[in-house]
Amino acid sequence: MRYTEVPSSPFIVALKKRRIKLGKIAVVPGTFDPITNGHLDIINRGASIFSEVFVVVLNNSSKSPLFSVEERMQLIIDATSHLPNVKVQTFSGLLIDYAESVNASAIIRGLRAVSDFEYEMQITSMNRVLNDKIETFFIMTKNQYSFLSSSIVKEVAKYGGKIDELVPSHVEKALKEKFNTY
Ligand code: ADP
Repeated sequence: MRYTEVPSSPFIVALKKRRIKLGKIAVVPGTFDPITNGHLDIINRGASIFSEVFVVVLNNSSKSPLFSVEERMQLIIDATSHLPNVKVQTFSGLLIDYAESVNASAIIRGLRAVSDFEYEMQITSMNRVLNDKIETFFIMTKNQYSFLSSSIVKEVAKYGGKIDELVPSHVEKALKEKFNTY
């Protein structure tokens, strides 16, 4: 049996258009204090969909982070060096202003559990009010990272617990140095 090319249906045309749209710039914002394997999973998957991904360390004064902005950025740079389309930056202010400044068409957030949902919905709705052209995409975490957060990692690291499966090795080293738990 010979296969002939099916003429493009409106559906296929729409899909193709969407692909072209997806091939744009996305922003992955966060505190990243420090970057974990959960964050990295979201960044990796984002980078396989969008042509450019800007990971932005938000300098949010309401949190008192363990690592400085520069340290957090360096840990992300080292963790993403295998991804040529990922850039790491920092920003103080509204995420949507940053996203506009780099011409992003999308914001990527990770979702772990239902508990993330309400907060994310508020932020997404607010961002849509501020700029409805920038779409927020959610990437569901992998099961093994669903409990993982920077806070939990810090808590475990502080008391010398095992974190080698939760963060890249250079992050583990940086945490041990901070907490003097070598
Ligand atoms: P924020 O202060 O913006 O929540 P975080 O550094 O805690 O900053 O998280 C940045 C992003 O990474 C958020 O979208 C968050 O939901 C996501 N994220 C954090 N931990 C994980 C994980 N284990 N799996 C998937 N996504 C995660």
